[in-house]
Amino acid sequence: MKKILLLGASGSIGSQTLDVIRADPKTFLLTGFSVGLRVEKVPAIIGDFPFVHHICLEREEDVAPLKAIYPSITFHHGDEGLKEIVEKCDSDIVVNALVGFVGLLPSIATLQCDKTLCLANKESLVVGGSIIMRMLSEGKGKLYPIDSEHVALAKLLSRVRREDVDSLIITASGGSFRGLTRRDLVGVTPEMALNHPTWKMGAKITVDSATMMNKGFEVIEAKWLYDFPLQRTEILMHDESHVHSLLLMKDGTYFADVSAPDMRVPIKWALYGGNVEFCLRHESEIAQFGDYHFRQFDPERYPAVGLALEAYKAGGTACAILNAANEAAVQAFLAKKIPFLDIEKEIRLALDSIQNVSNPSLRDILAADQFARLFVARHIERKSI
Ligand code: NAD
Ligand code: MG
Repeated sequence: MKKILLLGASGSIGSQTLDVIRADPKTFLLTGFSVGLRVEKVPAIIGDFPFVHHICLEREEDVAPLKAIYPSITFHHGDEGLKEIVEKCDSDIVVNALVGFVGLLPSIATLQCDKTLCLANKESLVVGGSIIMRMLSEGKGKLYPIDSEHVALAKLLSRVRREDVDSLIITASGGSFRGLTRRDLVGVTPEMALNHPTWKMGAKITVDSATMMNKGFEVIEAKWLYDFPLQRTEILMHDESHVHSLLLMKDGTYFADVSAPDMRVPIKWALYGGNVEFCLRHESEIAQFGDYHFRQFDPERYPAVGLALEAYKAGGTACAILNAANEAAVQAFLAKKIPFLDIEKEIRLALDSIQNVSNPSLRDILAADQFARLFVARHIERKSI
């Protein structure tokens, strides 16, 4: 029996993780979860999972009313509460399905407690990859990614000899605006951005898919996880999101991981530690999958990918600045404070203006995050006056 703590149970990955846990009660036991601001989700989750004994909420004022109804449950709150629940809740596996930088400290705490981290929160690796990989190399905890491309790569790489692989190929749907030119992007709205063609996901990652910052993050994520040189990691446009990633072998053949787009497939892979022995539903109808389309990636159409790679190459706190600037700019776009095309401009400005600290400690990363967030928010405020 594996005891699971699920951070971000109220989100898109979180609710699909609950589906996977629910489907195999002999293997998994949910012992704790967090829901951020979505406190209305708590009763139904407790109803389905009666062994829950720790819950984390975002706001302190939401704790008392729930504590009155569930006196035997321990409640935590805020960013500190997310770290505390990792440390206090009896669990073997922590699923980190939080969105954004807030996921970093809980990821580190999970490894510090020598637990298994099933990581959807890619921002943890983007900003804290050096810390996380160092902890893993010192034998602290285990990590299984929950990102369709990275699970595909893990599966493919486990089936070949690494020395036979020429390059990793990460597929990209192109997001909600893939049919538009850069000129067409002037005036696009958050409502339009949130209409993703192939995946139903949280708002932030859906906007990151439209700018393709998400793909930049995924190249960084793959670098930390699989350590292939960046020049041997490619992006390939693929409309249907059925081919999750490929390997180009040195003999010129490709190996691909193919399935209908359903995040429960990579979630299952991570929760079962790479050994999935059953299907939630059978996807043997490959003949019905239809046509697949592939196109070359155009870096000029999606400059956010270039920004991400530039930050990764710069090292130091550049990825923390990149991520914080992106979070602040995406939030401003969703709040209709800036146009879509300004997201990249805000990130460019933050990377050019904020000093990069080399060999950063965790404290330096936290400081860079806060500074960049504030820098972008202030710049946006000044522009609107
Ligand atoms: P979402 O917006 O649907 O859910 C985010 C969760 O984080 C919610 O439970 C919310 O309560 C919690 N949260 C957000 N801010 C918080 C805060 N300050 N304090 C406490 N909790 C907070 O997002 P999602 O689509 O489920 O994505 C989660 C992560 O998984 C992201 O890092 C995303 O990049 C990654 N991911 C998502 C998908 C997908 O299909 N949705 C696929 C691959 C990777
Ligand atoms: Mg992905």
